[in-house]
Amino acid sequence: MLRGVSGCRFRLRPKAKMKKQPVKITKRAVLYVTMLCNASCKFCYYRFESNRKHTPLEDIKKNLSSFKKDYGIEYVDITGGEPTIHPQIIDIVKSSCDIGIKPTVITNALKPDVISSLVENGLEDLLVSIQGFRDGHDEVVGISGAYEKIIETLTVLKSKSFEFRFNTVLTKYSCRDAELLAKCQVPIFLDTYSEFFP
Ligand code: SF4
Repeated sequence: MLRGVSGCRFRLRPKAKMKKQPVKITKRAVLYVTMLCNASCKFCYYRFESNRKHTPLEDIKKNLSSFKKDYGIEYVDITGGEPTIHPQIIDIVKSSCDIGIKPTVITNALKPDVISSLVENGLEDLLVSIQGFRDGHDEVVGISGAYEKIIETLTVLKSKSFEFRFNTVLTKYSCRDAELLAKCQVPIFLDTYSEFFP
């Protein structure tokens, strides 16, 4: 029996019996391979990082190995910065495949040639960031012609029958263009879908 601040007596209730649930650890990890980028998105906070550089391949391999051995990871999201500008991105994807971790690359899709090589070298999945429709996208990422590069990349993927996903950050630009994106782009690449995370 305890006494509260007002002098009232109260009794602690016995703890409700909790059923013990087995702890489940995710099978998906995130791997940051660079803090550098070839775009300059209005909303990007990495632009303000002081120490922006590529992660050395040896460190990346150690991380992948630890993911597998220590945590039983089966999938990895390779991100940055922009992972396709890492000079050893193909080796990174290959290393991941070699140890049985299926790699996804999250990209602004400005490098269709590199992405094509990744597909040839075991890439499992691609998440393409699209931030608006045509000029709207270019304005957000700060690069004229960026939207056309995405279309070039998607066309390459389509020709290889490689499935991919879209990723859009919810901003005033993407909200303004959402309907256009859905109506004009998704039907062109029928096996795709858009995700919006507020
Ligand atoms: S593509 Fe990604 S890392 Fe590059 S500027 Fe845009 S949000 Fe930042």
